[in-house]
Amino acid sequence: MIQQRTIKNLTRAVGVGLHSGQRVEMTLRPAQPDTGIVFRRVDLPQPVDIAVGAQAVSDTRMASTISEGDAKVHTVEHLMSACCGLGIDNLYIDITAEEVPILDGSAASFVFLLQSAGVVMQASPRRFLRVLKPVEVRQGTGEQTKWARLEPFHGFALQFDIEFKHPAVDSTGQSVLFDMSTGSYTRDIARARTFGFTKDVEMMRANGLALGGGLDNAIVMDDYKVLNAGGLRYDDEFVKHKILDAMGDLYLLGTPLLAKYSAFRSGHALNNLLLRELLREPQAFELVTFENDKQAPKGFGQLLPAW
Ligand SMILES: [Zn+2]
Repeated sequence: MIQQRTIKNLTRAVGVGLHSGQRVEMTLRPAQPDTGIVFRRVDLPQPVDIAVGAQAVSDTRMASTISEGDAKVHTVEHLMSACCGLGIDNLYIDITAEEVPILDGSAASFVFLLQSAGVVMQASPRRFLRVLKPVEVRQGTGEQTKWARLEPFHGFALQFDIEFKHPAVDSTGQSVLFDMSTGSYTRDIARARTFGFTKDVEMMRANGLALGGGLDNAIVMDDYKVLNAGGLRYDDEFVKHKILDAMGDLYLLGTPLLAKYSAFRSGHALNNLLLRELLREPQAFELVTFENDKQAPKGFGQLLPAW
């Protein structure tokens, strides 16, 4: 059967929150089958567990935030993207502040941490949520239009289109299709960094956001160009980061999706709305397990892909 996965050893990272600027320690620990991915706020007088799930998402402004009661964890999407890319089902994430460290602004550091800890199989079948009917959410009209869609697909593929009117983005690809069956998440997607514009940074800081952001954890652009000395990691790094984010946002479902996702200018809010819309329609999905590699979609087999 296709089995669930966790990590072999615990591993730690220290960094700052992108928005809070707060120093945070994070410990990733192995978890039993069927635990799911659980964030634990160990800094609170009484530690609080926050299990991922579409309904646990409580705020989607600038980043995806999950909550349990008053306890929150902000900016979970890059770590969730790494878990999706490596197929991690069960994991405890102990955290000492209310935001996941931004590290280098991509998912690459989380991939490195998880791989260093060792990915291991567990003696329980991995459950997938297979989309049976197209589900779509839309917002805005005219130039403000954005949408996101899930449709049936034997595997997991994402098509993302952006439309940033900015010289540095215009000159790069604004459309990417990524298919998990390629096994190239780590190489082709995970290293794409978050991005921002200097003109927005002052306004964000005035609102207590982006306090930990800078050239070492984001692509920063003025009105004309990328300011990072090293330039871009991929020619189409911007739209690849949108794919990275979407993978993280969708993995907050708590179950790996078998679907084709496509989106136009979508973000954290619409991605979460899409999951809620899907769950509202019981005929639109089913839970499945696979007896062997032959049945499973390519990229989801028992053999770990060669990262
Ligand atoms: Zn992001």
